[in-house]
Amino acid sequence: MFKRVLVANRGEIAVRIISALREMGIESVAVYSHADRDSLHTTLADYAFCLDGNRVQETYANIEKIINIAKITNSDAIHPGYGFLSENPKFAEAVEKSGITFIGPRSDVIRLMGYKIEARKLMASLGVPLVKGTNTAIHNYEEAVEIAEEIGYPVLVKAAAGGGGMGMRIASDADDLKQVFEAVKNTALSLYADDSVFLEKYLSKPRHIEVQIIGDNYGNFIHLGERECSIQRRHMKIIEETPSIAISPQVREEMYKTAVLIAKSVGYNSVGTVEFIYENGEYYFLEMNTRIQVEHTITEMVTSVDIVKEQISIAAGKELSLKQKDIKFNGHAIECRIYAENPAKSFIPSPGKIINYITPGGPGIRLDSGVKTGYTVSTYYDSMLSKLIVLGKDRDEAILRMYRALSEFYVEGIHTNIPLLISILECDDFKKNNINTKYLEKHIQNIKEYCQKRKTTYLAIDNLNN
Ligand code: ADP
Ligand code: ADP
Ligand code: MG
Repeated sequence: MFKRVLVANRGEIAVRIISALREMGIESVAVYSHADRDSLHTTLADYAFCLDGNRVQETYANIEKIINIAKITNSDAIHPGYGFLSENPKFAEAVEKSGITFIGPRSDVIRLMGYKIEARKLMASLGVPLVKGTNTAIHNYEEAVEIAEEIGYPVLVKAAAGGGGMGMRIASDADDLKQVFEAVKNTALSLYADDSVFLEKYLSKPRHIEVQIIGDNYGNFIHLGERECSIQRRHMKIIEETPSIAISPQVREEMYKTAVLIAKSVGYNSVGTVEFIYENGEYYFLEMNTRIQVEHTITEMVTSVDIVKEQISIAAGKELSLKQKDIKFNGHAIECRIYAENPAKSFIPSPGKIINYITPGGPGIRLDSGVKTGYTVSTYYDSMLSKLIVLGKDRDEAILRMYRALSEFYVEGIHTNIPLLISILECDDFKKNNINTKYLEKHIQNIKEYCQKRKTTYLAIDNLNN
């Protein structure tokens, strides 16, 4: 097993990885930017090294600095977390070449899956269902119009290298397509240094359902069930749950089989997620994420499998400790992502110092937090503060528990999306599972009014005021 591992990330996921390492008896090395000098992950790790700077490119996405620190500290392996360098094949390759272990799949698999056009080609060859669209890059507007006419508007123009909900836009007709096509190409070039784009039919009311898989270096593959992530804002997930009660047992089994088939076809040797989009009883491959995912926590709640520990031990050359028949699913889990932003003011980020941070607890609650009282939220990075996760015996209990927990969550000093999350849980459509990826767009229209009506969301303070 490893003796020491460098964690190339920040926030709640760095804390999550440090905890797993500690429970495994492995030392952790944190890296931090100037803005993160007093952050939780910096304080909790056994060792911490400054990356000297704040911008992502000079800190958490700086390949050279991170590999150098890993060498200086005699780290055996690097865990990339999610975001930043986690799906950068050049990074994985550089780590492999340096003789340090990359905690993730092989760099060639990351490259293949990270380029959505190549991934679509592979899926087509495996017979995996795909949304109507192109499996090659589209070079100019004329070509784009021809294809869009064939598949029918609206279409989604997607960057082949896209991720994190960025690098995709809808075009509703040929006129629209002209500027959307150029805009996505430009975004892709500046964000990913690659302007390849392709087209997909835009589904109007789909659900996002994904399957967690694990493979090791000995040809063992299992799945850990699905997660429904249909509550999204701008193609980014906000609330996730497992199981999905929208799909039939047959569709569920088929999705599991397809996800495992995909993992097998590339000799996948880590934890990963196959994302599908689901509409009218049919499911289609979206992409494969070759890393630990934000919402892995809900799967851990219902299966009791520690996915991060499995990921680390597989990278250390151990065989998968579980067989498919060992995986049992218990109860219903929901995760809410807590962001520093103001939902009543067009969701503008809300940086600043947290002067009070009172967190929920009690039965069935898990909180993965990247912040604490006294921490200053900067504008340099993603504004997610923490993830609140609950487990209930069924969906109804999980919703009530999440509602209770959010009402006990009090953050003073900055704005958070907690009022928005509470308002979603109060909504009949959500309670009845009458949701899709467009749900939030519609729901947001009422949010301003809601936030004004309920000045505070903290139960105790509400009671005092009444
Ligand atoms: P998940 O698929 O785990 O739910 P998200 O799509 O929410 O993850 O992304 C997790 C984090 O990683 C977010 O902070 C997101 O902005 C970032 N991220 C993921 N992929 C990319 C990418 N290709 N480029 C930039 N940021 C990314
Ligand atoms: P990313 O790499 O940015 O995560 P994905 O391809 O996984 O991109 O898509 C992210 C989200 O965008 C999906 O969860 C879904 O809400 C939406 N989306 C993607 N493709 C389509 C599509 N063809 N039709 C409708 N919505 C889509
Ligand atoms: Mg995705």
